[in-house]
Amino acid sequence: EEEEGFAGVADTDYAEEKAIKLSQQALQDVRRQFGKTYLPLVNGEYVQTQDFVDSVNPSNFSEIVGKIGLLSVEQAEEAMKAAKSAFPAWRKTPVKRRAEILRKAGDLMEQRRAEFSAWIVLEVGKPVREADAEVSEAIDFCRYYADEMERLDKGVNYDVPGENNRYIYQPRGIAVVISPWNFPLAIACGMTVAALVAGNCTLLKPAETSSVIAAKLTEVLVEAGIPKGVFQYVPGKGSQVGAYLVNHVDTHVIAFTGSQEVGCRIYAEAAILKPGQKHMKRVIAEMGGKNAIVVDESADLDAAVLGVVQSAFGYSGQKCSACSRVIVVEPIYNTFVERFVEATKSLNIGEAELPSTQVGPCIDAAARDRIREYIEKGHAEAKAALEMPAPDNGYFIGPVIFSEVSPDSTIAQQEIFGPVVAVIRVKDFEEALEVANGTNYALTGGLYSRTPSHIEQAQSEFEVGNLYVNRNITGAIVARQPFGGFKLSGVGSKAGGPDYLLQFLEPRTITENI
Ligand code: NAP
Repeated sequence: EEEEGFAGVADTDYAEEKAIKLSQQALQDVRRQFGKTYLPLVNGEYVQTQDFVDSVNPSNFSEIVGKIGLLSVEQAEEAMKAAKSAFPAWRKTPVKRRAEILRKAGDLMEQRRAEFSAWIVLEVGKPVREADAEVSEAIDFCRYYADEMERLDKGVNYDVPGENNRYIYQPRGIAVVISPWNFPLAIACGMTVAALVAGNCTLLKPAETSSVIAAKLTEVLVEAGIPKGVFQYVPGKGSQVGAYLVNHVDTHVIAFTGSQEVGCRIYAEAAILKPGQKHMKRVIAEMGGKNAIVVDESADLDAAVLGVVQSAFGYSGQKCSACSRVIVVEPIYNTFVERFVEATKSLNIGEAELPSTQVGPCIDAAARDRIREYIEKGHAEAKAALEMPAPDNGYFIGPVIFSEVSPDSTIAQQEIFGPVVAVIRVKDFEEALEVANGTNYALTGGLYSRTPSHIEQAQSEFEVGNLYVNRNITGAIVARQPFGGFKLSGVGSKAGGPDYLLQFLEPRTITENI
């Protein structure tokens, strides 16, 4: 029997008139549903809450996308109890059935892809094409992890004469998923369905600013047939409900994606044994980056400029994989900066839903203010080569390029998570690698070069989880570029790769003397 490779779903082709119409129709339909209330799903029921929070459109903050019912700590405890009672049956549910639910969820999202893209565009301000690619990623996660669990479920035999040895995997128990807002569907979906298909009862705590999309994912999982108590949608304050679930004695796995600050805190809190706790918690924490692209003197400059612009300003620099440092060798430094500035000037900034938009808003007021503070720092530390203006009806910030940035300055060391790039001058390739590695992070990195020895050296010495040579450094595809970092960018195996599900499973060996 020949194993076939995993084939991901294709993105929408917006060159087709039909696709553009469908997208515009979906945006209108979604806008008609603005202002609805979304409640937590606990033990198969949507439950009333005391507190609510508005989720607004970052492109136009006068629009309320939805009202989110926030779970209380008491309700979080009820959800935990429901998860515990659902576990024995879910654990025994055949993998084939669990995988079937994931595939159904993937199919449902595919049917509703224009609508799901529209929710992403309007709730987190991601431009249409990028939102569409995110829906593809979510669908791929469902299908790929379904395949993966079926592969692992076969187990391994290490039989010898007189003795049978079976190596098998069992679920860990209760998984708490804590997701970020920047990939509101794909990351929330990926972590959740991985935990579920491995047989764990799963509670999803989405980022506050992207809770409507998580409610839509909940609709899909329910329609796909997920039993009550097995999956629960538990929106609430991270510092309250999130922290409560992390510290809970019955939590077995925590799958977190977000900032380094929160990730480190969760890692520490999860290590403390609570009274009555009979297991160690497993923490998967995917955190930030300070990703660099190195451009050497042999690079194709056209390709490098294009790749840096896409990597730095796609989704306004709010991808964990985004390029925020460009390290350029002396002989081509001035030419590169000049061309990078020119290329950036041609970007269209505007509302995420407009087909012409290349740079949309940032997520919220707090993010906008934080990015502005970094820009202030940048002025003190370096030279502003470009600062583009931006509209003020949403949380917009125009692209900013700083040149002559020193490698250890604040804007070259801290994750800004906005459309701000530091261009650093180095004397040669050796120094470029040294500067590239000179942060706490190791997530993505890029190299533009036509020198084979440099490409080879970068492979072994550039400290990043995902290295891209002669292309942009964002947009990892499931089962093609398994994604994740090391150093202070995270602990855990790569999402969308062959080791990911193992983190949600407990391996066991059964030996029978015969
Ligand atoms: P964040 O502020 O760390 O929030 C992430 C999640 O943690 C949210 O759901 C948040 O809930 C929750 N949370 C906050 N405090 C908590 C606590 N004390 N205990 C438990 N949970 C808590 O990150 P973000 O702003 O959403 O996302 C941006 C960050 O994610 C960036 O640093 C980016 O690099 C990183 N990221 C990394 C990857 C990767 O694969 N490595 C992918 C995407 C994003 P509330 O929203 O309610 O506060």
